[in-house]
Amino acid sequence: MPVVLTSTTVVGLLIALVGTWLLSGDARVNTIGIGAALAYLAGGVPAGRRALKALWNEHILDIDLLMIVAAIAAAVVGAVVEGAVLLTLFSLSTTMEERAMGRARRAIEALMELRPETAFRKSVEGAVEEVLAAQLDVGDIVVLRPGARVPADGTVLRGRGALDESTITGESMPVGKEPGGKVFEATVNLDGVLEVQITKSLEQSTVARMIALVTEAQAAKAPSERFSAWFGQRYTIAVLVGSVVALGAFYGLGRDWETALYRAATLLVAASPCAIVISVPAAILSALSAAARGGVLFKGGAALETLAAVDIFAFDKTGTLTTGRAEVTGVVALGNSETAFLSTLASVEAHSEHHIAETLRREAARRGLVLHDVHDVKAIPSAGIIGRNADGPVWAGNRRMADMMGASLDQDALRVFQDGAETVVYLGRETRILGAVSVADKLRDTSAGALAALRASGVKTIAMMTGDRRAVALRIGRALGLKPDEIYAEMLPQDKVRLVGEIAEGRKIAFVGDGVNDAAALARADVGIAMGAAGSEVALQAADVALLSEDMERLAAAHRLSKRTVSIIHQNLILAIGAMLLLVTGAAFLELPLPLAVLGHEGGTVLVVLNGLRLLSDPICNTRRPVTDRESVEQGHDDKAQAGASSQLRNADATTTKTSTIT
Ligand code: ADP
Ligand code: MG
Repeated sequence: MPVVLTSTTVVGLLIALVGTWLLSGDARVNTIGIGAALAYLAGGVPAGRRALKALWNEHILDIDLLMIVAAIAAAVVGAVVEGAVLLTLFSLSTTMEERAMGRARRAIEALMELRPETAFRKSVEGAVEEVLAAQLDVGDIVVLRPGARVPADGTVLRGRGALDESTITGESMPVGKEPGGKVFEATVNLDGVLEVQITKSLEQSTVARMIALVTEAQAAKAPSERFSAWFGQRYTIAVLVGSVVALGAFYGLGRDWETALYRAATLLVAASPCAIVISVPAAILSALSAAARGGVLFKGGAALETLAAVDIFAFDKTGTLTTGRAEVTGVVALGNSETAFLSTLASVEAHSEHHIAETLRREAARRGLVLHDVHDVKAIPSAGIIGRNADGPVWAGNRRMADMMGASLDQDALRVFQDGAETVVYLGRETRILGAVSVADKLRDTSAGALAALRASGVKTIAMMTGDRRAVALRIGRALGLKPDEIYAEMLPQDKVRLVGEIAEGRKIAFVGDGVNDAAALARADVGIAMGAAGSEVALQAADVALLSEDMERLAAAHRLSKRTVSIIHQNLILAIGAMLLLVTGAAFLELPLPLAVLGHEGGTVLVVLNGLRLLSDPICNTRRPVTDRESVEQGHDDKAQAGASSQLRNADATTTKTSTIT
């Protein structure tokens, strides 16, 4: 509809111009009259309606009102063609602006169309039937054929295949999936046949949360956006009042009232804040959409603006700078057999959410160990976990945990671990140590590059905070090029929170974590950033920015995008204010004709919108690289790891090494 009206306005203006330039006498007057009437009606009525609506509903004097007043003033002094030019260009630029902003806004909604309508559900008896995706329940099993889109978030039960997860993470490399791996709604199964058990309802799926978050983010106003709205309102009133004053002044300086009114109308248009008001949202909306397509969810323009001002980054180690998917590197069983020891350990860890627990469960599964019942379980953050099994109380954890239980680690058999630089998990029964295992976590292969990129873009301080032992922290930190005083080890969750405040010293700080044990620090920092947040509710909830992929370089890209956004906002404001000052000077002192003022004014607005729209194609999602982390992933991700899967995992590993050498 706006397009039809705008086109009508243009036609009206053209008719009026034909009359002005080519005709004479009565024909001229009539043609101009008809053309201008058309332009005034088609351009003025919608603007008038918007102006009244804003005035009535929100008690706001908006820019539409200024334009209507100027057009009426032009008509009153007989400058209808100028008035038609004004309404036509205004209508054109408004339509264009709406479309551009709509494009930025809708960039994410396209995701909705990627959610499949139907799915193939497998019944208990093994029959497969096609059902509507909306009818799927948590626990249902669906069969995914090659080329099919995943109908809901779930866990792979059977089969292997590669999935294109770019809709969620923005990464174009296929991600290998095996039994136990998580799959997300709206991603595409490229090959292989998978059986997937649904784990989340459609409303709670990662895509649904993503769409909801981005929609909320677009509605929430950034501080500078709020300011430009606030300022725009006061400024609009000032422009109206100023124009009336100018009318008086021109008249007082000896102009006839018609010229004075014409000049005042020109001044009104020249001073209108269209460009100023749109300059901020045009940039922010575009940036939010570009980021979302790259798998980076900002929870609003405020997070985007604050991130640009951040020059301190604090990182959690396990699961953030490292993959969190460690390997068991050594086992010492005191007394009992290694098998019995590991099975007890894994049975206790079966109740923990921690990355380390996952590693130990996986190791037990790989060895085909049977787990037994452990109850009354309690997790102690940054220390370990305690519970009871058939033989009485048991605990698993680090040195801190052993100290808490009063167990001594001063034993020759344990010495090997204490001198090393790997994470050690002890298993104990009250004060008696039953054994220990060491696990080595892998650095993400994107971490070092991301830290370097952050430093290159002006980040002054980088810190690593971990609950792990100092020796491990130093080893990982060194591999990342961190200085010893940038490494904080043996931190409890509350220590991290306190440190975030201390390091900041009033400057802006971002905390990057994975949501395991660090939700409080994520919340405490000026900007909390969660890594690998796809499928992790805690991380999505606690963070201001969620990186859905596991690619650490996205973090640096997001930081660059935020800085670029702020600099485009500045460019836009300078452009908008500069153009306005020029035009006002022209209108006040240099007899600038109304059509030129209109042209300058609308041109400035369009330019500002286009400049903001440049962010829509920000290369945040162009960091194409082999997804090595993600691949080694799925071997880890696995809550119900099956022993049989391990040989396949080795295969996956082999391809992993191959691809990573390309980088
Ligand atoms: P990070 O800060 O590196 O993410 P956490 O604070 O989550 O690490 O944990 C710190 C340390 O606490 C781990 O390195 C480990 O030694 C110990 N720990 C925590 N939970 C467990 C568990 N379930 N089993 C064994 N050790 C644990
Ligand atoms: Mg962690």
